[in-house]
Amino acid sequence: METVLPSLIDKHNRHLNYLRISITDRCNLRCLYCMPHDGLAKLKHEEILTYEEILRLATIAVKLGVNKIRLTGGEPLIRKGILHLLPSLVSLPGLKDISLTTNGVYLKEHLDKIKSAGIKRINISLDTLHRKRYKKITGYDGFEQVWEGIQLARQLGFNPIKINMVVMQDINDDEIVDFARLSLNHPYHIRFIEYMPSGFADQGTHLHHVPNSAVKEQITTLGKLARVLNTEIDGPTDRFRLEGAPGEIGFISPLTHHFCQVCNRLRLTASGHLRPCLLSDQEVDLKTLMRAGASDNDLEQIFLETAKNKPRAHRLVSEHCGSLSGQMSAIGG
Ligand code: SAM
Ligand code: SF4
Repeated sequence: METVLPSLIDKHNRHLNYLRISITDRCNLRCLYCMPHDGLAKLKHEEILTYEEILRLATIAVKLGVNKIRLTGGEPLIRKGILHLLPSLVSLPGLKDISLTTNGVYLKEHLDKIKSAGIKRINISLDTLHRKRYKKITGYDGFEQVWEGIQLARQLGFNPIKINMVVMQDINDDEIVDFARLSLNHPYHIRFIEYMPSGFADQGTHLHHVPNSAVKEQITTLGKLARVLNTEIDGPTDRFRLEGAPGEIGFISPLTHHFCQVCNRLRLTASGHLRPCLLSDQEVDLKTLMRAGASDNDLEQIFLETAKNKPRAHRLVSEHCGSLSGQMSAIGG
């Protein structure tokens, strides 16, 4: 008889079925809200998980009930060899959903291989529809590349294609309605994300978040928003659809709407630390343990223990009470 392994359930009865894996801490962009202009100290090659180590840990997580994996970064598409990792991850038995979050700059040239590896869902971060502003926000004149990547993803049948917009006061909040309108004309899922203060990134920029309640109010000028029911793998996104729209609108509101009670996420950082909460310093160094010879059984126990001790809620509830406690690019957002 097959042994049934225990699942990743925490003390607050949340089932942690979603693992976000940061493939690399490096990035080709310098988004205002994520990285300082001069970049951050980079991890050395030997400090980041190898693909074999990533696959080993993902296999353990899936055995323990993770059924959704997102590959993120840094920018996942700039790590050499990433496309070879995808098919092995996609074929993990029990995995229902695997997706990739990218800034989209190198999407166009990789889409065929991403598709043939079996990835169907893709998230693209795009905070403006204007070329000059794109350069101001990201430090790179790449709007056209990203936009063409999105269009090609659609032609190739990726579904859903989610477009993530981090809304920042006086930077891009005049484009909220334009982004929402995209969902009326295309099958894109537009996700409005509240900016989370990251002390090290916005030096001198003084970014401010816009509450998603205000974002939503602006969008209702386009029509009525009907709620779309969340599925088991949706996590904390609040989903809606404008009447008659082929696409969707989603709100991710870490600051103004506590979604901790439904948070189903674990994170594996580029340096191999398992983090039960984005907004807490609590993490376990799996890489060192693995390299010191930990068995799969040892690692399973650590996964279970880390999951059990996931903090009940995060402390970042207003822009005045702190900032992200680690680098978004290494943790994976
Ligand atoms: N480089 C890829 C990208 O940009 O899509 C993946 C990594 S990025 C860290 C993952 C997500 O985190 C992106 O959608 C990005 O917009 C979001 N993000 C980064 N810093 C953020 C912040 N301070 N507040 C809110 N979202 C943030
Ligand atoms: Fe790079 Fe993504 Fe961070 Fe922008 S949000 S700097 S693209 S890791």
